[in-house]
Amino acid sequence: MKTYISSWPASVECPPFPRRLAILGATGSIGDSALKVAAKHPERFTVTALAGGRNGKKLAALCARFRPAYAAVLDETARKEFLDHLPTGHAPELLVGPEAYVRLAAMDEVDLVLSSIVGAAGFEPTLAAAEAGKMIGLANKESLVLGGHLIRAACKASGAVILPVDSEHNALFQGLAGHGADHEIKRLILTASGGPFRGHDRAFLETVTRDQALAHPNWSMGAKISIDSATLMNKGLELIEACHLYGLPPEMVGVVVHPQSIVHSLVEYVDGSQLAHLGTPDMQVPIAHCLCFPERVTVDVPRLDLASVGTLTFEEPDLDAFPCLRLAREAFDAGPSHPIVLNAVNEIAVEAFLGERIGFTDIPTMIEAGLDRHAPVDVSTPEAVLALDHEVRRETEARL
Ligand code: NAD
Ligand code: MG
Repeated sequence: MKTYISSWPASVECPPFPRRLAILGATGSIGDSALKVAAKHPERFTVTALAGGRNGKKLAALCARFRPAYAAVLDETARKEFLDHLPTGHAPELLVGPEAYVRLAAMDEVDLVLSSIVGAAGFEPTLAAAEAGKMIGLANKESLVLGGHLIRAACKASGAVILPVDSEHNALFQGLAGHGADHEIKRLILTASGGPFRGHDRAFLETVTRDQALAHPNWSMGAKISIDSATLMNKGLELIEACHLYGLPPEMVGVVVHPQSIVHSLVEYVDGSQLAHLGTPDMQVPIAHCLCFPERVTVDVPRLDLASVGTLTFEEPDLDAFPCLRLAREAFDAGPSHPIVLNAVNEIAVEAFLGERIGFTDIPTMIEAGLDRHAPVDVSTPEAVLALDHEVRRETEARL
């Protein structure tokens, strides 16, 4: 390796407490967990900015409670809803539109950016935070799938530090503990719960409904990542995320299915040691680790009691029933524009499945067809990344 996405954070200066926090995606599942951590440790954070998407009502309630100086919403409808629901007493400066997220991510009044928007919309603000040299808690894995090469370069140039919120990558980060040398690391092992359809074959998967797919056995998450977990695309995106974060080739990142979601991932060293990270599956744990890094703080989650868990099991992923993991690996191998296609088709397909316009097994079929149609293009600028993302979305929508 290569290098971590920036430098090993222990060797860089982290902003002092209280940290001035911007949460991009404050109204989502990760936003909820982050605000629980912030509320438990008010001495450590000034909530400076809260950005929601279209949920103006929920954002207004959060602003009344956390009193940020800035808030952002995606469009005029959300702005009106926000203003209609904002109680008197505190009025943050309100920004509107996709540019607002980029502005919040880079502003001088913010030290720490939690990137927790869902999907490719997280790419530009994450890149802006990287260019501005921020400490970044990264939940939005899609931004690395789209433009990990650009975000890595921006971090290198600015000294920005990315701390992985995604539970598997946070586990790896802790298991790596500063080791980064090629000759020390044998491989990284991502654990996957297997999702709600683990053990079922393709014929069964043809019949599953939206509600069945949304019912994740272990984690409570937003709709998009819940479907990604059911198809195993989440693990595919996480494989690419891990390669970017830790500077490793995909053949050094394995996946093992672990239905209990207690072991969050492992690092295997060349001496044969495997270091695992264990914990209750609750996103407050990795979020608190990132937001307070390098310090540890108490988190309100049930303690892990291994004796009552009893058994931890592990098995190989079924790549025939769940081809998305294979497709992600192939896309990453094929070059930097293929993962953009993988992600864009996946986002459109997941939305279509959630809208009950296509079936569950149409998701991998559409992605494979999109990748087959794609001829590599240059994506060495953010504009080129976004142009390809938009073009693939348009084309995929048209084919639906
Ligand atoms: P969610 O759907 O619950 O929330 C998404 C947030 O993004 C909301 O605040 C929404 O308003 C906002 N948003 C949506 N579209 C937007 C747009 N176009 N512009 C600006 N804001 C927009 O999603 P989530 O489950 O919180 O996931 C957020 C990210 O974190 C995803 O990238 C996901 O893969 C990642 N992640 C989530 C979990 C989890 O447990 N939920 C775990 C690991 C990683
Ligand atoms: Mg994860």
